[in-house]
Amino acid sequence: MNFYLGMDFGTSGARAVVINHQASSMAEIKYPWVDEAGADLATTWETALFTLLGQIPEKLRRNIQAIAINGTSATVLLCDAIGKPVDAPLLYNDGRGSVVLPQLRNIAPLHHNVLSATSSLAKLLWMMQQPTFSQARYFLHQADWLGFLLHGHLGVSDYHNALKLGYDVENLKYPQWLEHLQLPIQLPTVLPPGTPIGKLRPEIASQFNFPGDCLVCAGTTDSIAAFLASGVTSPGEAVTSLGSTLVVKLLSRTRVEDAQYGIYSHRLGNLWLTGGASNTGGAVLKQFFSDAELEKLSSKIDATKASELDYYPLLQPGDRFPINDPHLPPRLTPRPDDPVEFLHGLLESIAKIEARGYELLEEMGADKLTRVYTAGGGAANSKWCGIRERHLNVSVVACMNREAAYGTALLARRGVRR
Ligand code: ADP
Repeated sequence: MNFYLGMDFGTSGARAVVINHQASSMAEIKYPWVDEAGADLATTWETALFTLLGQIPEKLRRNIQAIAINGTSATVLLCDAIGKPVDAPLLYNDGRGSVVLPQLRNIAPLHHNVLSATSSLAKLLWMMQQPTFSQARYFLHQADWLGFLLHGHLGVSDYHNALKLGYDVENLKYPQWLEHLQLPIQLPTVLPPGTPIGKLRPEIASQFNFPGDCLVCAGTTDSIAAFLASGVTSPGEAVTSLGSTLVVKLLSRTRVEDAQYGIYSHRLGNLWLTGGASNTGGAVLKQFFSDAELEKLSSKIDATKASELDYYPLLQPGDRFPINDPHLPPRLTPRPDDPVEFLHGLLESIAKIEARGYELLEEMGADKLTRVYTAGGGAANSKWCGIRERHLNVSVVACMNREAAYGTALLARRGVRR
C-alpha cells in the first residue's frame, strides 16, 4: 500500500493528512498554534513539522511515497547559506512593506499584484533595509523553508507561492523588470507545485521510519490547497467559499486578470484558477443572527420563491468585487419584522452578488460556469444552496473535502504519478 502526506501550515495551526492511492484519508493530525513565550516563529514551525511527522501512525509512515507542504501565501523569511533564518519571518498579513510601495511603484508594472504592502516582494524590499540582511543568502517562502528542512535543497519554490514575489507564471520565469533590479539575494528557483525536489533526508527517513526513497515535492499556498481538496478538476467548475466573506474561484482554460476588481489567476498546470473576493458574506449574517438562529430560521425559508428584498450586505462601505467601489454603501433596508423574511432577503442578495461575480469572470473571458462546490460556514445551509441554484443556473454541491492538508496530499500523490 502506498501513502502520500500533505502538511498544511495555516493561520490557526499545522495539520498533516495521509491519503492512500485512491485519495482516501487514512490519518489526520493537528498541531494548534499556541502562544509560546519567547519561542521564535521559525522554531515553532520546525517543532510542528517534526511533531506531526512523529505522530503519524508508524504503519503508514513506512509506506509514505511522497510529501508536500503548503504555507500561508506571502509568509516569507531570509536565511543564511546553510538555511538558518537570519531574522524573524514576516507573516502573510504583515503590512510593514507599505513603506517600500512608492519605490515598488517605480519598478513593477501598473496594477501588478506585487503592488501591495503584504506582497512577498514588498516584504523582501523592506527586509533589505534591515541590519540583519547582510547575513542573508536566500529569500524563501514558509513552505519552501519547511520543504528544505525535509529535502535539504535550499532556494527552491513553486509557482503558487512565487506569484506574489512577481514571478511570471505565464512564461515561467522571473520578469525582466525584476531581473533588472539585480537584488543582492538568491531568489528561489520556481517549479510547478507537486514536482519532486529530492528525497527525504536519510537521517529523517531513518529517525521516523519513512522509506529511504520517499520524495519531497514542491508545495503550494493554503488557499490553493483548499481548492485542490474540493475535488474540482474540470474547466467551468468552481468553488464558492461562504465564510466571513464571499470568495469565488473558477477553473478556466483562459487567464483572467483585472487589478481594479482584484481579479487574478493562479496557474494550475494547463488551466487557470481565476477568482475574486467580495466583502459581503457570513460576517454580515453574524451581525444579526447566531449560527443556531441561522439554522432554525433558514429551515423556514421557501427557497423556490424569490425574495423581493434587494440588499447589498456589507459591514462597512466599500467593495471591490464584483462591484469596484471603495465607497459602496451597505444596503440593508427595508428590514421586515419577520426575521425569516429578513434572512431570506440577505441570503438571496448574497446569492445575487455571487452570481454576478461568476458572470463578471465569464465576461472577462473565463470558462462558462458548469457546477459550483461550496466551502465555509454557509456550505451546510441547504436552503441557501437552493436559492443560489436559482441564481447560478447550475447545480450547487458541498465540497468533498475542505482541508488544505488533504489538497496538498493530493499534490504529493500527483508528484510521484507524473
Ligand atoms: P471564516 O473562516 O471565513 O471566518 P467560516 O467558514 O468558519 O468563516 O464561516 C463562518 C460564517 O458562516 C459566519 O460568518 C456565520 O455567520 C456563517 N454561518 C454559520 N452557519 C450558517 C448557516 N447555517 N447559514 C449561513 N451562514 C452560516
